[in-house]
Amino acid sequence: MKFFKVEDFSKKLVQWQKKHGRHDLPWQKNRTAYRVWLSEIMLQQTQVATVIHRYDQFLKRFPTVQALAAASVDEVLAEWSGMGYYTRARNLHRCAQVVVKEYQGVFPRDPELLESLPGIGKSTAAAIAVFAYDVHAAILDGNVKRVLARIWGIQEDLAKSSQVKLLWAHAENLLPHNESDLVAYTQGLMDFGATACTPNQPACMSVPKKFCPFESNCQAKKKNLVKAIPLKVRKVKVTQKDLTWWVLICRRKVLLEKRCQQGIWEGLWCFPEELSFEPKNYQALLPIRHLLTHQRLNIQPKQVILERQSRPINQQQWFDLSELDQLAMPKPMTDFLRNLTLTLDGE
Ligand code: SF4
Repeated sequence: MKFFKVEDFSKKLVQWQKKHGRHDLPWQKNRTAYRVWLSEIMLQQTQVATVIHRYDQFLKRFPTVQALAAASVDEVLAEWSGMGYYTRARNLHRCAQVVVKEYQGVFPRDPELLESLPGIGKSTAAAIAVFAYDVHAAILDGNVKRVLARIWGIQEDLAKSSQVKLLWAHAENLLPHNESDLVAYTQGLMDFGATACTPNQPACMSVPKKFCPFESNCQAKKKNLVKAIPLKVRKVKVTQKDLTWWVLICRRKVLLEKRCQQGIWEGLWCFPEELSFEPKNYQALLPIRHLLTHQRLNIQPKQVILERQSRPINQQQWFDLSELDQLAMPKPMTDFLRNLTLTLDGE
């Protein structure tokens, strides 16, 4: 590394973190392994602003790993409702049960043991080990990959296993020698990637320009490659799926169905897509478009007002509108029902 002294990197980052980093996030207080783990899982695919709001609420409901393990998966999914990527919630529940059963309710310190738990990857395991136990371990999430790739001027596809290996080697090599800097360093790396060296408006290119402690070393900046790194690879093909939601309303009750087939909405409550009878009259409501990672859903809600409740089949059940916030539902359902409740309340 001719352009960089390894020890300079951590020094610069720790200094930057003290002045420009985030210090008041709820999970930075009282750092226990349970609290750190929960925040890391929530932050994986959800914005910080949303997590701040939901984190305390989740902890109030499940204050300990024991409380989480003892809950039903339905209760956990209900608390997670609207946050998306429900596999995280199912893994959270499974992980809590393993920690209680196999580790007497105490998360292990060893990053390799942490990584063996459901839903915990190598970088998340390292973050828990550093923040909860001061263990010497390197993180490498998507933000950190981008920062390192820019500083080292790596123009390859970062998903390639050779590049992943190289980035892990950089991440491990850069760890501060001074153990007392480990927490500030790891937090700094997360904060720098999330708030300074961002995908589209990195500090060095923002208007007005912001301070970047690595500008004189950064290969991407020197070679005018900031926008080109990380390399954008061909996106996964997004397929279309058309579905119907049968919105059956009887007074202030709606008919819902619990998805039991494996998939992204497994275990969540949705409107039935098929009915056991053919409604004589229905009103087609405004279609809903919902984008998932690999799929675009075109949902056509069809509303039917009934005088008498139809007989529920399979996993169907009638719910009063006041009961809906107790149920686990995917985001487009919660959005739709919020509007429906407002409409029915206004009538
Ligand atoms: S100079 Fe720009 S691209 Fe390089 S690390 Fe700093 S903010 Fe990121």
